[in-house]
Amino acid sequence: MRKPIIAGNWKMNKTIEDALTLIEGLKLELADCMDVEAVVCPPFTALKVVGDEIADTQIKLGCQNMSSEDDGAYTGEISHTMLKELFVKYVILGHSERREYYKETDFWVNKKVKKALEKNLRPIVCVGEKLEDREAGNTESVVEAQVRGSLADITAEQFKDVVVAYEPVWAIGTGKTATSEQAQAVHKFIRGVIADMVGQDAADGLRIQYGGSMKPDNAKELLSQPDIDGGLIGGAALDARSFAAIVKAGM
Ligand code: PEP
Repeated sequence: MRKPIIAGNWKMNKTIEDALTLIEGLKLELADCMDVEAVVCPPFTALKVVGDEIADTQIKLGCQNMSSEDDGAYTGEISHTMLKELFVKYVILGHSERREYYKETDFWVNKKVKKALEKNLRPIVCVGEKLEDREAGNTESVVEAQVRGSLADITAEQFKDVVVAYEPVWAIGTGKTATSEQAQAVHKFIRGVIADMVGQDAADGLRIQYGGSMKPDNAKELLSQPDIDGGLIGGAALDARSFAAIVKAGM
């Protein structure tokens, strides 16, 4: 019912030349992959060349951030119009690195999510607890607050275009993956919160990705959990073979 979605977040990596090498490799690896939605999110500077390369493939284009404003005096920002001009379909919002280093709050993430949906871009909305939250037994309350805050005022109809990524911060880039049981428990909890917000049907249709050191060797087990509908991949998305292996693990 929910088509798995595997998205690669290239973060601040890859020059244009390196991005071309990676996407050319991925095109070969994923030529016959129809059952899983594969999304690549290069840095802004490589969106055009990567988008041109994948225009006639199943691979979709995403980006890593977006302004909540339409246009004007917002130095350093990128608007929805600029992204759509490059055929971007997905936009990662509220990644923990943006929350941590750029102090993005749920309020701002929510403003961006609303703008993305209004302009027909699909947000991948990241939530996840820090290690100290988990150790203090606050995982659910922290994640619930992020879900309710980042997705406030989104209708059941709009939820069809939303993807949520559960990314425990302690598992990002650390090599420490949540166990499949830990991840499944939080995914199920998030689906319950969404059901409370907008109803069971919308919650059942929502795709929830896991992110945090997902690799070819742990992807299958994570992706076989009933509430895990894909992955948001950092480090392993920088190599065509390993990203393709994760995509194929979702088939
Ligand atoms: C991420 O940053 O979204 C992520 C999951 O990174 P990694 O796969 O490297 O842990």
